[in-house]
Amino acid sequence: MAASYVDSTTFYNHSRFLLLLYLFKETEQHFFSEKKLEDRVTMADNPSKSISQNTNTHRVILFPLPFQGHMNPMIQLANILHSRGFTISILYHQYNSPDPSKYPHFSFHLIPGGLSEDQLDKDEPLSAILLINTDCIKPTRDCLGKLLSTHNDTACIIMDANLFSSQAVVEGLGIPRLVLRTSSVCSFLAFATLPVLRENGFYSDDLDSRGEDPVLELPPLRVKDVQAIHVRSLDFTLKIISNIVEGTKTASGLIFNTIQDLEEPYLANFHEPFRVPTFLIGPFHKFFSAASSSLLTQDRSSVSWLDIQKPGSVLYVSFGSAATIDGESLREMTRGLASSMQPFLWVVRPGLVQGSEWLESLPNEFMEVVSQRGYIVKWAPQQEVLSHPAVGGFWTHSGWNSILESICEGVPMICSSFFGDQKVNSRYVTDAWKLGIKLEHVFKREEIESAIRKIMLDKEGQEIRERALCWKEKIDVSLKTDGSSSQSLNALSDLISSFKSSGA
Ligand code: UDP
Repeated sequence: MAASYVDSTTFYNHSRFLLLLYLFKETEQHFFSEKKLEDRVTMADNPSKSISQNTNTHRVILFPLPFQGHMNPMIQLANILHSRGFTISILYHQYNSPDPSKYPHFSFHLIPGGLSEDQLDKDEPLSAILLINTDCIKPTRDCLGKLLSTHNDTACIIMDANLFSSQAVVEGLGIPRLVLRTSSVCSFLAFATLPVLRENGFYSDDLDSRGEDPVLELPPLRVKDVQAIHVRSLDFTLKIISNIVEGTKTASGLIFNTIQDLEEPYLANFHEPFRVPTFLIGPFHKFFSAASSSLLTQDRSSVSWLDIQKPGSVLYVSFGSAATIDGESLREMTRGLASSMQPFLWVVRPGLVQGSEWLESLPNEFMEVVSQRGYIVKWAPQQEVLSHPAVGGFWTHSGWNSILESICEGVPMICSSFFGDQKVNSRYVTDAWKLGIKLEHVFKREEIESAIRKIMLDKEGQEIRERALCWKEKIDVSLKTDGSSSQSLNALSDLISSFKSSGA
């Protein structure tokens, strides 16, 4: 082990009970009105955290990637650090911008120019990430330089791992840079291992003949799981991903929205190439809800509808903020949902169905099924939905936030996957943690019906539910004062406090 290497365990051992702080007086109201979940875990288990005290004068600048699944955890992290007494500044793009009026306790700094909706190819997430990185270097440098010159209390910047081009900008300004990776450790490891997998022939264009082969370096992944990370061309994907991975290796610290227990089997492999202080402080949403950073309005009528359903009877269906399906998949979904005979709450996001505004392509006979035992909304308060007693299963696109939110509520999953890390995530959920079953995209109605019945009615679903409830308890323990996430958060606070203010 290199002398410079300090892993998260070392930090736990070093960690002291820094003063457990909660919110500044002026933000208490905002916090308590926003969320109940964190009351249940953090406040009940750590009563000392309710002391509202601020001994920390360091400023932390946070820089999110402007997509829902990245914005939510970054804003949650900002709230968590604010509750520890840090002063918070958010750097943001015009595209998918957060609403500053919801966070009067933060200062917001717009990076002028840059992206527009038309420039982004929604079907190619890696291309969008590339565009954000290439288009925004100069405006980011200008904005950050101005911010640092006016705030000499700045301790560090925390940026999304995907904003790799800003790495040089930040280093040029001489300020410590921490990275937030919004995925799991095990899926990041799959990304980081792609060059090796390429050399060993697991990451290639020859998918058909080898798709089901196990990836020996990364059990339980199969070749088709890592292959799904690829967009446009293998070389293009590798180039972008190696930028992200290398930028992470040179950071002053690496933060994950995940839980130590869940990742334990993969941490040794991870710490070998990533010799930076690492903090597993999730699940963020147990500290602060993502409701305020929702880019779409959450339709609360879904909760009223759940209130009149039987306990454990409803399948919740949502494919997150970016996945799309074609007309054929939509038809198979409607038929599968109809023939399963189970009540369902379905998030049909505008734009989910390619070429459709919203519900116009749903068949009339299906709308009758909906009126009998279904409910459709454009966007739901997902965390609240998943914690509702009526929800008995979650058919998800396997985005990391959705998976984490589901595990935290002990809800078994049906895992589909579309792009990026989703196939990798779904493999870990189904084959490693055994918290769900897989439903491959392209959809077939018979398979949908069978998966829904399995998860909602069969013994297999019941066993998954029992395992999920065990994980829910483990997560609650990790958030207690002595738990791994709380201690890792203490260590992160210590590290940030140890940075000399930029102007000092
Ligand atoms: N979400 C929500 N309402 C919905 C669907 C999703 O608030 O109807 C939130 C969900 O709670 C999660 C985020 O949107 O925090 C989606 O992130 P994820 O990583 O699951 O998927 P992505 O949208 O990035 O593909």
